[in-house]
Amino acid sequence: MNRKRVLVTGGAGFLGSHLCDRFISEGCSVIAMDNLLTGSLSNIDHLVGNKDFEFHHCDVSKFVHVPGDLDYVLHFASPASPIDYLKMPIQTLKVGSLGTHNLLGLAKAKNARILVASTSEVYGDPLVHPQTEEYWGNVNPVGPRGVYDEAKRFQEAITMAYHTFHGLETRIVRIFNTFGPRMRLDDGRVLPAFISQALKGEDLTAFGDGLQTRSFCYVDDLVEGIYRLLMSDYPHPVNIGNPDEITINEFAEEIIRITGSKSKITYTPLPIDDPKQRRPDISKAKEILDWSPKYTRAQGLEPTLKYFKEAVLK
Ligand code: UDP
Repeated sequence: MNRKRVLVTGGAGFLGSHLCDRFISEGCSVIAMDNLLTGSLSNIDHLVGNKDFEFHHCDVSKFVHVPGDLDYVLHFASPASPIDYLKMPIQTLKVGSLGTHNLLGLAKAKNARILVASTSEVYGDPLVHPQTEEYWGNVNPVGPRGVYDEAKRFQEAITMAYHTFHGLETRIVRIFNTFGPRMRLDDGRVLPAFISQALKGEDLTAFGDGLQTRSFCYVDDLVEGIYRLLMSDYPHPVNIGNPDEITINEFAEEIIRITGSKSKITYTPLPIDDPKQRRPDISKAKEILDWSPKYTRAQGLEPTLKYFKEAVLK
């Protein structure tokens, strides 16, 4: 009788589909929504036929209709890799702004709690390191990444406004680089790019001098952090990510080593506004959610590599 009903937008995407799995395993009834622009039905194939799972093919930037009650809304729909949002700048802006507005309206109408997926990109090319939630960021609004960064910053602003003005229960997660099975092989991100290059024996393309840093979190850790945040009563943004920071050069060497590849590293120009460093300060998540990542990069890379091997060699 008390089964919770959850809407996950972007439910056929990388993170969205893992969230669907988590809520199904928690005994919830799950509705996944996706326009399949960057998501894929193959990510939720295993859930089709489950009586607690529904898939709605729709674009949340236009209008969102869900019959019946809802307890939780998780807004994860958006192109999320730099090459995707460069290819789809207007859709990226719309889903972060108009889409968020629609989902806040839906959550308000259903008296549901909403969690929105924000990003470390709100910090832009950060001048504070590691990044704390108090840092306001260094974003170029009119640069190529501005369409994603500013949509997510607007998303945070409108979500807080619904919280303070309408008293809506809202949560904001700032997601740092995450990896795991179901990432798209061709999404242009560094991990799928490097793994598929290494498996095919091609050179790994490090952008710039490869000295820029990132910190990679395994998807199961991220999902746990998001789940805890949703269940908490904390309405302000919380960083979720793994603070283990490495340079892109070191990461390339690591991928070459674990794949046993003979590939070398080649250097190509750095994309405009590519952040030079990124590492989450996760003190808040530790304190408020009692959360910290459990998987080392090596532990997370094992299942990820297995997934990509099947995808590349298919
Ligand atoms: N990168 C790279 N080679 C690639 C893809 C990405 O060197 O084939 C670099 C990119 O310039 C950035 C980092 O890897 O500094 C992470 O890029 P990604 O696209 O994964 O996500 P970002 O963290 O920039 O959003």
